[in-house]
Amino acid sequence: MRKFGYILLLFFFGNLANAQTGITFEVQDVLNKEELSEHLRYLASDELQGRRTASPGGQKAAEYIAAQFKAIGLLPAPGMDGYFQHIPFVRVKPAQSGEIELEETRYLVGDNFVQIRGGQAGIQAEAVFVGQGWVDEEQGYNDYEGLDVEGKVVIALPGTPDDTQPFQAFRATKQKREIAREKGALAIVELYRLRMPWRFVKRFLNSDRLEVGKASEYTDDLIHIWLKENEDAQLELKRGDVLPISLSTDGLKVDSTEAVNVVGFIPGADDSLKNEILLLTAHYDHVGVGKQGGGAYTEADSIFNGARDNAIGVVSLIAAAKELMARPPARTVAFVAFTGEEMGLLGSKYYADNPVFPLEQTVYNLNNDGAGYNSTAHYSMIGWGRTNADTLFVEAAKATGLEISKNPAENQNLFERSDNISFAQKGIPAVTFSPGFLEMDQEIMKYYHQVTDNPDTLDYDYLFKFWKAYARAAELLANTPMKLWWTPGDKFEPGNDE
Ligand SMILES: [Zn+2]
Repeated sequence: MRKFGYILLLFFFGNLANAQTGITFEVQDVLNKEELSEHLRYLASDELQGRRTASPGGQKAAEYIAAQFKAIGLLPAPGMDGYFQHIPFVRVKPAQSGEIELEETRYLVGDNFVQIRGGQAGIQAEAVFVGQGWVDEEQGYNDYEGLDVEGKVVIALPGTPDDTQPFQAFRATKQKREIAREKGALAIVELYRLRMPWRFVKRFLNSDRLEVGKASEYTDDLIHIWLKENEDAQLELKRGDVLPISLSTDGLKVDSTEAVNVVGFIPGADDSLKNEILLLTAHYDHVGVGKQGGGAYTEADSIFNGARDNAIGVVSLIAAAKELMARPPARTVAFVAFTGEEMGLLGSKYYADNPVFPLEQTVYNLNNDGAGYNSTAHYSMIGWGRTNADTLFVEAAKATGLEISKNPAENQNLFERSDNISFAQKGIPAVTFSPGFLEMDQEIMKYYHQVTDNPDTLDYDYLFKFWKAYARAAELLANTPMKLWWTPGDKFEPGNDE
């Protein structure tokens, strides 16, 4: 499960008559506690070094999962490199040295300005203030009207005329850069006047980070800077004002790398349902070793093993794959182990933007992720009440003797903090199945993103029930004749305004 931070992020029961699934559950047991526990012990072993995205340990985990998919008999998706969906990542290092002089004030890189895009530069030129630097031809709006910025630096306010929320301002940067480049500008400097504290922005943009993309998209692009003025000495500018600027920077250093999502599937057996895809997902990445982990560590134990977060989820996928392979499902079932979740849900976002199976045919996403458990009598549903599948989840709970903890810790907004959200945002009913917890208490935080999240601290009798419950829920979703959908009025149901 992803930590709070960078993401800026009617209660209807389904018609009970629809809940008749028509399948009888054979008690033929295909799942084995020891075998599933072994998968967990390996995935959360020190050998995998905390499974950080785009690290050798992360790649080892991916290869192990692919080998399990193959051994179980899942098929690789057509047109893929075996079970791998390759994702281009870049490692971005912020500019190390640079300064800007503007109206007799000096600004230093990493302190009161950060570079978002572009390579190194030494510029002495005129700067032109262009308001927000926005152009919308359809609306007849043009901040550049009558201004010549060719060979000059553009100074702009953040955001767009419609929106100056921090998140919107961040999203608008790409388009504003494109506009400035088209007009022939040398660089764009946005004056950071947003409500989010500068120190957060600075800390994020000034750190080594991993993002999805290609190196050239960073270094070959127009130089783009966010500059924080002194609170008591903000520049007073009118659109069209011209002032001298000197700007030097050693630029972003960007290297290409990659990581993979692991994908396999079982074709549906029912002629009328096989074109519908049930997407079962769990992220396999965790946060790595030592300083990377973001939490306390010692010389004796510096590996963030991520047994709970999220080796348990990956083993759930393996359990569901075994179960569904033994009893061919009516719908086609795709299994995806994501990378990049801890970096900002990057693997699932990439999949949602570059789907291996068409999203139009993807009828439901049952994700599996969690921080841990503090009740071995429960499993948790994050998204309870939001889709018409709750009756199936109740049935899966009954089959395993567990109860359901419904939307625990609601104030934590967990629904939007795991990979299910990447699909919910595309309109696909998507929920997260989690180990049993009732609230985010000390027992959870003791392990959450800590080096103590080791496989030898787990209750495998409980986990076996949990894995069976997930496999059972997956089986019920794969076979139910009912049309899987959002609870009417849910904010992610297509056609509803948020
Ligand atoms: Zn996490």
